[in-house]
Amino acid sequence: MTDLENIQKKLEKRLKKDRYQHTLGVMYTAASLAMRYDDDVEDALTAGLLHDCGKFCSSKEQIKLCKEYKIKLTDEELEMPALIHAKLGAFLAEKEYHVKDRRILNAILYHTTGCPDMNMLEKIIYIADYIEPGRKMIPALPQVRRLAFKDIDEAVCACAVSTLEYLKEEGRPIGPMTIKTYKFYRNRKG
Ligand code: FE
Ligand code: FE
Repeated sequence: MTDLENIQKKLEKRLKKDRYQHTLGVMYTAASLAMRYDDDVEDALTAGLLHDCGKFCSSKEQIKLCKEYKIKLTDEELEMPALIHAKLGAFLAEKEYHVKDRRILNAILYHTTGCPDMNMLEKIIYIADYIEPGRKMIPALPQVRRLAFKDIDEAVCACAVSTLEYLKEEGRPIGPMTIKTYKFYRNRKG
């Protein structure tokens, strides 16, 4: 069995059914984007497969696990527990799924908020998470899907805008990293 198949088996057992389906969607979408942008397809599959591996339990339990593993959480993360699975996920990908490649671990770490000046794999996972085929339809989705294969920086910008709008509409707190991502890619796109 390849490493990838091994990880897939473990995740199928640990994740809820719909989370696992989403995971497969992100994995194959990431692979397609890697083909389009000449990135490593195997790395994209691995990062896509593991991007939500920290989401196998509730945010409360995720916080508990972070304490146990001595993973430092920022005020931003404690205020927005939806962000915690990314940090926990990057940790677990290394410790439990034996991924050593920092590029893959960072793609997992930044998949929720993005960050300024992302490398290609980070952008691929950030976008694949948003556009995978199983995502429920939101107004910006067709546009981001189209842009993703045309100009990935523009897609990142559209994705960040849409995330900010969503958080605003829901009255949820908006973290500084999401804003930084937006500002960087607003100025970057052609
Ligand atoms: Fe996630
Ligand atoms: Fe996800």
